[in-house]
Amino acid sequence: GSGPAGFYTAAALIDSGVDISIDIIERLPTPFGLIRGGVAADHQTTKNISKKFEKTALMNQVRFYGNVEIGRDISLAELREMYDAVVLAQGAPVDRVLNIPGAGKAGVFGAAAFVGWYNAHPDFRTLNPDLGVQAAAVIGVGNVAIDIARLLSRSDKGLAVTDLPDYAETAMSGSPIKDVYLFGRRGPVEAKFTNVELREMGNLSECVPQVKAEQLPDGVGDLSDRDKRLKERNLENLRQFSERHPDEKPNRVHFEFFAAPVEILGTDKVEGIRLERTRVEDDRAVGSGEFFNVACGLVVSAIGYRGTPLDGAPFDESRGIIPNDDGRVDDGLYAAGWIKRGPSGVISTNRPDGVTAAEHILNDH
Ligand code: NAP
Repeated sequence: GSGPAGFYTAAALIDSGVDISIDIIERLPTPFGLIRGGVAADHQTTKNISKKFEKTALMNQVRFYGNVEIGRDISLAELREMYDAVVLAQGAPVDRVLNIPGAGKAGVFGAAAFVGWYNAHPDFRTLNPDLGVQAAAVIGVGNVAIDIARLLSRSDKGLAVTDLPDYAETAMSGSPIKDVYLFGRRGPVEAKFTNVELREMGNLSECVPQVKAEQLPDGVGDLSDRDKRLKERNLENLRQFSERHPDEKPNRVHFEFFAAPVEILGTDKVEGIRLERTRVEDDRAVGSGEFFNVACGLVVSAIGYRGTPLDGAPFDESRGIIPNDDGRVDDGLYAAGWIKRGPSGVISTNRPDGVTAAEHILNDH
C-alpha cells in the first residue's frame, strides 16, 4: 500500500541509514492512498504532504510498483519468500455497513464510495450520484461527514480551488442542494469531528451552520484536561453556530445531535430518513421511542471505514484489522496504519506506525 503508512515506513527505513532496498507495491496505478483518494478536494494544503512522499519515492533505494494487486497478481506467500520483510499498509478501504431498512435504495451511498467518486478513485469514478436534489443527509459526525457536508454545500466559488475531477465539479456546482443535515447519534460532546474542521464550517462563504441551542450542554463533563479543552472549543463553536441566522447565506448545514437513523424512506429512491431521538447513557446512545422524519433526496453514510481480509494474513473480523503486536504480525510480516490499528487519527498519526514498523524490521534483521 502506498498511502501515508506505507510511505512513513519507507522514509523511516531510509532515515536509519542502513543499506536497504524498498519496493512499494500498490493496487492502483497511482500512489499516495487516501492523500489522493480520501482527503477532501478543497483541502489542498493537506494534500501537499504527497510532495514529501514523492521525495521518498524518488530515492534510489525505492521502487514503486503500481497496478499490482496482492492476491490477484502475486500472493502474500510469494512476497514473503521474495523479501526479508513485508509491511502490510493497505488501509481500511471499505465502509462500515449502515444496517437499517432501506439502506439499499438508490441515492444512498457510503462515504468511501462518495469520497472516492469526487476524488476520481478508479473504483468509484462511475458512481454518478444524483445531486439534483434540494436536501441531503450525512450520517455520522466525524471529520469525513464534515468533509462531505462542506463540499455538498459549497457553490461554484468555493469549488473553484479544488482538484475535483471535471465530472464531480460539474455535478456539485450545478447541484440545487440548499440544506445538508449532519446526524449524530450521540451528543455534541461525543462528536468525533476536530475543532479546525468544525470551525471551518462557520467560515464558508456560501453556507451557514445551524445548531439547536437546546441540544448543547452547559459543560463537557468529566474528561481529561486535554479532551476537556478540545471539547470546550467545539462547544464554543457550536454555541456560535446556534446564533447564526438561517438566511445569512444561500445554503445551510444543520447539525442534528441525539438522532439515530432507523430507516431510509422512499420507494425505489431515497425520499427521506427516519430517526429516533436519543439520550446518552454511559457514553452510549439510548433510543427514547420518539421518532421524526427529514425529507432528503441523497444520503451519505459516513459512519467509519473498515479493513478487508488479505489471503495469507490473519484478520480480526470484529475490528476489521490485521491482529498484531504493536505492528508485528508474524516472522518478517508487519502492519502499519489503519490496517494495524483501525480507521482513526489524522495523516501524521501514521508516522509513528511507520517508525515502529521500521524499528521492528531493523531489529529483526
Ligand atoms: P469517525 O471519526 O470514527 O466518525 C464516525 C462517526 O460515525 C461518529 O460520529 C460515529 O458515532 C458515527 N457512527 C458510527 N456508527 C454509526 C451508526 N451505526 N449510526 C449512526 N452513526 C454512527 O470516522 P470518520 O469520520 O470516517 O474518520 C476516520 C478518521 O479519519 C478519523 O480519525 C478522522 O478524524 C480522520 N479524518 C480527518 C480529517 C481531517 O483531519 N481533516 C478528514 C477526514 C477524516 P459514534 O461516535 O456514536 O460511534
